[in-house]
Amino acid sequence: MRIVQNKLIPPKGFIAITLFGIVFARKELNETTKNHEAIHIRQGNEMLWIFFYLWYGIEWLTRLMQYRDKTKAYYNISFEREAYINQLNTQYLIKRMLFSWIKYL
Ligand SMILES: [Zn+2]
Repeated sequence: MRIVQNKLIPPKGFIAITLFGIVFARKELNETTKNHEAIHIRQGNEMLWIFFYLWYGIEWLTRLMQYRDKTKAYYNISFEREAYINQLNTQYLIKRMLFSWIKYL
């Protein structure tokens, strides 16, 4: 996993963001966050990235209308639910099936 540590991306208040397979981080990442981002890389690769961001945006807006709360909307995006629920499981990506995020819709 390629991690670019810097002070610009992501904006203050966030720890890390994965853009087209590269992880941008404001500080050194712990194993849990690395696993979280690795799950997003797997999701992004199988969605050819463009569809990952499209679906991410559409689902965030849908959840925002549903919950009327930005944070709650974010945590309920299926990509995030899959990543948060499995980030402590270091074996998760070994056994993960393609498009597993669909189970978290
Ligand atoms: Zn995430």
